Amino acid sequence: MHSLKIDEVLKMVKSTGQGITVSEAKKRLKENGRNEIEKPKKQSFLKCFLKQFLNIMVGILLISAIVSIVLAVIQKEYSDLFDGCVILFIVFMNALIGVFQEYKAQACIDELKKYNIINVTTIRNGVRTRVESEELVVGDIVEMKSGEIVSADIRLISTNNFSCDESSLTGESVASLKEAGVVLKETCPLAERCNMAYSGSLITGGNALGVVVATGKQTEIGKIASLITKAKKETTPLQKSINKIGKIITWTVVAVSLAVMLAELLSGSSVEDSLMISVALAVAAIPESLPAVITIIMALGVQQLAKRRCVIKHLHAVETLGSCQIICSDKTGTITQNKMKVTSIIEGDKLVDKITDDSLLDCVKNCTNVKMENGVLIGEPTEKAIIETVVHSSVKSKRKVYENPFSSQRKMMSVVVEDNSNFVLFAKGAPENLIKKCKFIKINGEIYDFNDYFKEKIKKINENMADSALRVVAFCEKKLGNDVINFKNESEQDMVFLGLMGMIDNPKPEVEKSIQACFNAGLTPVMITGDHKRTAFAIAKKVGIATNISQVITGEELDKLSDKEFKSTCLNYRVYARVSPEHKVRIVTTLKQKNKIVAMTGDGVNDAPSLKVADIGVGMGVSGTDVVKSVSDMLVTDDNFSSIVIAVEQGRKVYNNIQKALQFLISTNCVEVFGMLISLLAFPGHTFLLPAQMLFVNLVTDSLPALALGMEPVEQEIMKSPPRNPKAGLFSGKIGAGIIYQSIVQTFIVIAVFVVGVFCYESEIASTMVFFTIIFM
Ligand code: ATP
Repeated sequence: MHSLKIDEVLKMVKSTGQGITVSEAKKRLKENGRNEIEKPKKQSFLKCFLKQFLNIMVGILLISAIVSIVLAVIQKEYSDLFDGCVILFIVFMNALIGVFQEYKAQACIDELKKYNIINVTTIRNGVRTRVESEELVVGDIVEMKSGEIVSADIRLISTNNFSCDESSLTGESVASLKEAGVVLKETCPLAERCNMAYSGSLITGGNALGVVVATGKQTEIGKIASLITKAKKETTPLQKSINKIGKIITWTVVAVSLAVMLAELLSGSSVEDSLMISVALAVAAIPESLPAVITIIMALGVQQLAKRRCVIKHLHAVETLGSCQIICSDKTGTITQNKMKVTSIIEGDKLVDKITDDSLLDCVKNCTNVKMENGVLIGEPTEKAIIETVVHSSVKSKRKVYENPFSSQRKMMSVVVEDNSNFVLFAKGAPENLIKKCKFIKINGEIYDFNDYFKEKIKKINENMADSALRVVAFCEKKLGNDVINFKNESEQDMVFLGLMGMIDNPKPEVEKSIQACFNAGLTPVMITGDHKRTAFAIAKKVGIATNISQVITGEELDKLSDKEFKSTCLNYRVYARVSPEHKVRIVTTLKQKNKIVAMTGDGVNDAPSLKVADIGVGMGVSGTDVVKSVSDMLVTDDNFSSIVIAVEQGRKVYNNIQKALQFLISTNCVEVFGMLISLLAFPGHTFLLPAQMLFVNLVTDSLPALALGMEPVEQEIMKSPPRNPKAGLFSGKIGAGIIYQSIVQTFIVIAVFVVGVFCYESEIASTMVFFTIIFM
């Protein structure tokens, strides 16, 4: 497609610049399938059910039960039939519970996938519409912009500074600039096809229009994906350590079961009975439901979090959340409301109620990006607040010939407009950056030299505004005359300073309480912002993050610190001001080097690297771009700091409940194993528990009560203690001791009951007493 002209491409995919019709799109979707790269096949109920019997122990048990039933029938010993049937029934019930657990775990995980849906803007029936990326078809015209992910293979029709990171396809991590107009040679390698955008690439800048030429498995990434083996099922570190524990327990139980078999044989039992009892013990004592129980507990925790506006995208994030020690958060929109309102306007160097200067009016009107749709202003909160200050005036927009857009790195933007065949550059941005670029100042319609006196005066005004927690934006202009102009950055020099605006963005009401909750829970909140040091500090002080300006560091000051210096002081800072997204990576990396578990929030495409580096990347569900949403471990659907704190609380709860379930499962199983062993050695010839009893105990105690423990509500104390040490194992603290204590006490009780049964009654009654005691405990 890269070697054809655009109209040839459109003809080939049977489309026009106006896209295809809705009905045609439906037809193509039906014919060619959804735009997805292979869906994992669902396991059938039968297959899942049969899989439960693949376990050797269960297999032996099943065979022994069947053999005993057949023998009983042949020998017409119908009283023996009961035992075999009960065992068979229990084994089947166990398998059913196993299937239920696997289904439940999978359903919980599937449920989360719906939060990963990406929407795309296409033109159908000549109208712009948003559709799910999986519904894109060949011939669709697609609009793309920075921060999105390319959803299909697309031949570009028009581009505007459009660049893509195609590393997922080409391995090349430098973003490549795209150019729609060119026609390339057929042999042009993929990495150099500048008129194409490939599925899976991240759009790092600009915008573009294009036509879909391949979807799903036909895309370049789809072709590779079907070659490489399917993605492995994710196992979290916790699941791995539980699997390890499971193996240790299994081998111990197998060894004990063999010992039991030997002891039974020596005490004169038949081979069949000895085999049956040892296998039943193995089946009962091996906590085969452990992995499924853990997955369900985690997945249910994740579901509960989704209801509380936190979407966990990877299961491992739940356990990491529980050990999180530092939450690094953006200011605007996460800690504050992102509802900006201009409260002070400085024209030249004077405070005014309303703008009257023509140049400032023109600058405000032309150097802002807002749209009016159905009487509603659409745009960034900062931009909307600024434009609202000129709605009273009749000033008109001029023809824009060039725009150097706002970026968090430059902290400014500029436009060039045409004014009666003359060109004028308007710029707005962070005062410190613009003051450096201004040579003149306009006061009361007169132009003065922007000397040190004026500079100091403006800086002072800026600082005073910042001290009142205002975000300050400066405005400037430069008359470019009618020359052929160079629209590059150099034009943003020697400008005329026009004025300042200060806008308030109040903290969200619930944030202060959440910050307090963080401190109570031993979590350190850290605020990261592009705003001025004083604005940042004023807000941080209001919500309780910082108490002293020495806890604030700016991006510029950070750049001056060596890695070693920063590492030794990083834990002192609570606020990072005037930083750009690139600083975030350094902040997270350094905090991690101090062995801290760090959560980091982000919304822009530039935040993606820091989200990846953080232990928990928190994407913003509302303001976050597709790229951020795709790399984050967790999405906060209301962009609220308080939700992150709730997520930490839930993470701690899930971990605690897993420990409780583990403690319960292991200690009850220990009672059966040790009870059996002790009784055999001390009272050979007496049955401690019949195989059917053992299996019944296993059936009723193994999974459901463990699951119930997994659903325990949050304990009140959970956010009053410090985060758990991530290196401490599952059995650290009270849990390990609890298991030992419960096992010893319960074993002692059952043995005592057994002894009473054996001496006061008879063997069969003794084992019934043991059976009820275990269930009761
Ligand atoms: P936070 O991290 O708190 O969300 P931020 O990092 O997004 O904030 P930026 O939006 O990069 O902060 O803003 C940094 C500075 O750039 C602001 O203090 C302001 O002076 C200036 N600024 C912000 N938005 C605009 C804009 N739309 N046009 C011009 N300048 C702006």
